[in-house]
Amino acid sequence: EPIIILHHISKTYTMGGQQFTALRDIDLTIRAGEFVALMGPSGSGKSTLMNILGCLDRPHTGSYLLGGREVSRLTDDELAHTRNRDIGFVFQNFNLLPRLSALENVALPLVYAGVPRRERTYRAERMLADVGLTSWRKHTPTELSGGQRQRVAIARALVHNPPLIMADEPTGNLDTRSTQDIMSLLKDLQAQKKTVILVTHEPEIAAAAERQLLLRDGTITRDEGKGVVMDVV
Ligand code: ADP
Ligand code: ADP
Repeated sequence: EPIIILHHISKTYTMGGQQFTALRDIDLTIRAGEFVALMGPSGSGKSTLMNILGCLDRPHTGSYLLGGREVSRLTDDELAHTRNRDIGFVFQNFNLLPRLSALENVALPLVYAGVPRRERTYRAERMLADVGLTSWRKHTPTELSGGQRQRVAIARALVHNPPLIMADEPTGNLDTRSTQDIMSLLKDLQAQKKTVILVTHEPEIAAAAERQLLLRDGTITRDEGKGVVMDVV
């Protein structure tokens, strides 16, 4: 069943009195449990689309059904609530809080969700164990390698059990070995029925996903996966 249905999504920016269309008339359905890579040249609209999918921004026109609920016209507070509940984010630069330990970073989404301290610690410890960092739980981000930091960030993205994970260039700052670790962690999420959407510039990374979307000038021009190639435009 679909977790994401976009219908006629468009987004226009106004700059110096000029209108610029960053996304034009996007139609897209993503099934629960899919692992999707989003590619496209700089300026093609990847960030704009990820911001809409991640409930960080609203489209100007069109409909966005997330888990069956229309979210394209929510208020800022409602969007933030949806985001905190339904979506886990992983970033190129990890976005960990430098003064907090790995464990405290992972527990952070549970603070926002109002989960009591003991349960926060218990759940964060379990997540850190899942990414193989139990013995690093007291360490701060600067005491960890890049690959370890990204594993902390993935544990944080998952700790509140969201159905959707958005990863923006998650391996952009990592060496080959750590890149493989992070990609296999993300792939393993499919077994838990998590939907993963990953932005990448690298075709080898995109190839690890089961479906590849190509954005060009604000339109999805290619949608391929499982050997099926569909030229949309
Ligand atoms: P990337 O290609 O890595 O996604 P970009 O340079 O396209 O990075 O964009 C980085 C951020 O800046 C995004 O959040 C995007 O929305 C914003 N941005 C991009 N272009 C502009 C612009 N012309 N004016 C204002 N913000 C922009
Ligand atoms: P990508 O992530 O693929 O690089 P973006 O979504 O950042 O693409 O940008 C798509 C287009 O929209 C670009 O031409 C960019 O300059 C423009 N854009 C993005 N964000 C803004 C913004 N906040 N204000 C004005 N223009 C923007």
